[in-house]
Amino acid sequence: MSSTATTHEEIDLDAIRDLYRVERDKRVRSDGLGQYADAEEGDFAYYAEDPYTPREERESLTETVDVLVVGGGFGGLLTGARLRQAGVQSLRILDRAGDFGGTWYWNRYPGAQCDIESYLYLPLLEQMGFMPSEKYVRQPEIHEYTQKLARHFRLYEAALFQTVVTDATWLESENRWRIETDRGDVIDARFVVMANGLLSRPRLPGIPGITDFKGHTFHSSRWDYGYTGGTTLGGLDKLGDKKVGIIGTGATAVQIVPHLAQGAEHLYVFQRTPSVISFRGNRPTDPSWAESLKPGWQEERLDNFMSIASGGAPEEDLVDDGWTTAFKALPSLISDSKISPEEAEKRDYFEMERMRERIASVVSDSETAAKLKPYYRFFCKRPCFHDEYLPTFNRDNVSLIDTDGRGVERITETGVVVGGVEYELDCLVFATGFESAEVSPRQAGFDPIGRGGLALSQKWNTEVRTLFGLQTNGFPNLFFLGITQGTLCPNFSNMLNEQSKQVAFVIEQCISGEHVVVEPTLEGEADWVATMEAANAEDSEFWDTCTPSRYNDDGDSTRKLPNRYQTQYGGGPKEFYEILAAWRAEGTGKGLTFR
Ligand code: NDP
Repeated sequence: MSSTATTHEEIDLDAIRDLYRVERDKRVRSDGLGQYADAEEGDFAYYAEDPYTPREERESLTETVDVLVVGGGFGGLLTGARLRQAGVQSLRILDRAGDFGGTWYWNRYPGAQCDIESYLYLPLLEQMGFMPSEKYVRQPEIHEYTQKLARHFRLYEAALFQTVVTDATWLESENRWRIETDRGDVIDARFVVMANGLLSRPRLPGIPGITDFKGHTFHSSRWDYGYTGGTTLGGLDKLGDKKVGIIGTGATAVQIVPHLAQGAEHLYVFQRTPSVISFRGNRPTDPSWAESLKPGWQEERLDNFMSIASGGAPEEDLVDDGWTTAFKALPSLISDSKISPEEAEKRDYFEMERMRERIASVVSDSETAAKLKPYYRFFCKRPCFHDEYLPTFNRDNVSLIDTDGRGVERITETGVVVGGVEYELDCLVFATGFESAEVSPRQAGFDPIGRGGLALSQKWNTEVRTLFGLQTNGFPNLFFLGITQGTLCPNFSNMLNEQSKQVAFVIEQCISGEHVVVEPTLEGEADWVATMEAANAEDSEFWDTCTPSRYNDDGDSTRKLPNRYQTQYGGGPKEFYEILAAWRAEGTGKGLTFR
């Protein structure tokens, strides 16, 4: 399938587009996002239960606080930290989990590790006096770091774990929110921050027969070490006599597969679309390098990474990894850069050829190597970075079961069927990801009711309008973190850190100015939407021709939400953060009304 073109002039773009279209067409389904089942509901609720912390019963709580934060992941932690720094004492942080950590509480699967460099990913390293042990640290260290942050900023005393918000209603006459939970709590709060995360609802494929399987099964974000043995660091020593299947080959599965292969008698990897697998190059932190760092180093490093991610070309690439290599090769896909779409496509082709060649050079069986090769543009799906995934397919006890874009056919009581062949299994792991394309009320699991009884989902059904993606008119004193009408940077914790600064600043202004209500004006919202749209690169053709993924509503181009809900500011993350910082420095509260 690969072309022999070696120079930009020799590339036949039409032939490449045809090739990618054929691969995409195999994968597109008429049911789009409807193909998935919610792991938190009905027959599947078992898949979402917390295997890590036993449930503790407690009395219901009735209280009034200044600020209530929903979510104890990096978003909630950083908001809590910034609020503490701003002097807020009356704080409550709710989370359905049994501890802080968010993603890093739930995702403890073997091999769980962040593929964003840890010196960037772990926020506030200098303030915390902490140096990660490796360039890419593993889940236990990240989770411990979230706990460290929580202790440092006295957030444990604000925490209510194993608690799910069911309702949030704006009480007009009292100028506050009333929050109700599944524990019967009634908490009144002046301000509410929704930091509930983007990928928090486990997703299962609606494969026929999925509930029939009689073997052991679980979702990757609820790993059952009691069954597999071992820990997040590997050593799955109870699987030696087990045939194990894993459905999915995304960023999660890529990290799990090498460990399952080491532990299981036999591993079947069920693939629908191969991932891009770039290099990782993990290494321990060099103590002399760490000692040589000057104050302000983390900000400088973040700035350098963001600049490259935004299409800039700083003199030095401080991070120098798979991400920055891709950003430098493909700048036009990250922000609205100046190279032509055709030139971008050609660069993309060469980068993808490099990825495909890497597979051919590592995987010895040529048929398996061919099936592992991705045929789409680099950023159509979330790229992966791993050095042990591809070599795993050279093991005798590992079989790649490629479904040629169609997905698993059927699940039976005893196994998984692909192409009419049943693969008998003792254990089936779903590494099938999380719901992501829905608006934030769905992600949060509750739908805030604002002024005049208007639900947030109702407002956003017709048009999504926000100020900086953080607040919306009609919902006073409510803030939401995330990518909606903000920015998209692979280093999510940095985005949350910048958002938390903004949220804490506005809340502090409101409290110190003795105002009771802060809310975006209609004009403020309109200005932000216009600014965002003016800066936005027209990328719908790119997404419409991409293989299905969570970035394009699983290939369903008819399902665009009004005002392109997922739209981000097109100037890239660096410019977006500068807009927020300049707004705070100006200090006029432009676009907001304080009452
Ligand atoms: P994904 O949604 O990325 O992957 C789900 C996988 O399940 C895909 O391979 C998908 O195939 C497959 N699948 C779904 N339905 C079927 C079916 N019917 N038959 C066969 N296969 C099916 O989820 P992940 O958990 O892997 O990753 C989610 C996100 O979490 C990532 O995008 C990333 O943002 C984050 N993450 C970050 C990490 C980090 O290091 N920073 C590590 C891990 C995850 P198809 O591709 O065809 O849809």
